This record gives sequence, C-alpha cells and structure tokens, in this order.
Amino acid sequence: MTDKIMLKCEACGAMNRVDERRMTSQPVCGRCGKPLTRSLKPVAVSAADFQREVVEWPGTVLVDFWAPWCGPCRAVAPMLEDLAARRAGSLKVVKVNTDENAELASRFGIFSIPTLILFHQGNKVNQVSGAMPRAQLELWIDSSVAAGKA
Ligand SMILES: [Zn+2]
Repeated sequence: MTDKIMLKCEACGAMNRVDERRMTSQPVCGRCGKPLTRSLKPVAVSAADFQREVVEWPGTVLVDFWAPWCGPCRAVAPMLEDLAARRAGSLKVVKVNTDENAELASRFGIFSIPTLILFHQGNKVNQVSGAMPRAQLELWIDSSVAAGKA
C-alpha cells in the first residue's frame, strides 16, 4: 500500500510524486514551483495524445470507449465522473470518443461500447464491455489493479 499519488503540473507538464498525507497542505511542482491541482474530471483523449496520457502515464488509468449516441455509455458517464473526483490522484479517468477515434477503437479491438480498459504503468491489465453497477465497477477496478501489480 502506498500513500504516494501522481499529479501532473498544469504549468510545465512535469509529473510529481506527492505524499497523499501532505495533501492537506498545498503541494507545489518540483520543477517549476507552481501549485499542483488534482484533476477532478474525466479527460477527453484522442489518438494524438493517447500515448502520452495513457500509455506513458506512471499510474492507473481507466479508459472509457464511448460514443454520444450510446445509451448505456450515458448511464456509465456519471459513475466515471464520480470516480474521477473521488479517486483523483490515484486513478485517472479518460474518455475516448470512438466516433472520432475509430483507429484507436480498432487498435484495441473495441466491438461494443461502452468498453472500459484499465491500464497500470502503461500495461493493459483488464478490459470489460457493457455497463455495470457502481459497486461492481469499483470492485473490478481494485481487483484488476491488484492482479496487474502481482
Ligand atoms: Zn511545473
């Protein structure tokens, strides 16, 4: 169990490893000295920044492959927003619009949406298709990350 979380500096882009117990005081970037903020919302990612935002991210990333016309995707979206806010710093949530990023969707073999893929340290650790209840989703994430670290 670690108390360290990863925060990306909005100002210079440097990754900072921060002790979560110190989050009561305002942490600053080790490179440029600007204050660090936690990302509280899911991040929209495209083929152009997928490598940087997901594959090279030194932590856990949940990728939601979705499309605007997909009903079950809309059901999952509020849960993902809630997760992104509550687990900010330890879990990054990103969204890939499969209508706009068909090449990314085919690279990961997405045949139905929503599909969630969990990455840990750049490695894909698990994948699941379809909506699921919140408690089951959280259990899936935690057990997948634990298995991915093993
Ligand atoms: Zn910085």
